[in-house]
Amino acid sequence: MAVRDEVLALIERLSPSPICDDCVAEKLNLPTRQQASYRTRLLAGSKGIERRRDICSICYGEKLVSRQV
Ligand SMILES: [Zn+2]
Repeated sequence: MAVRDEVLALIERLSPSPICDDCVAEKLNLPTRQQASYRTRLLAGSKGIERRRDICSICYGEKLVSRQV
């Protein structure tokens, strides 16, 4: 599965709970947070995915999170 699809599947699975880029990277074993952030940025705005500053449902940190609404 392509990384893009894995990120999308993860966000969809958690929906409507938000997840931050750090947790996306950790869950998908991506080498860097930048990769996660790049992917979530590309997905934002499509398939009901939005990015905003909020509390991550996994690590409870206030960060830029992605979620599907
Ligand atoms: Zn998190």
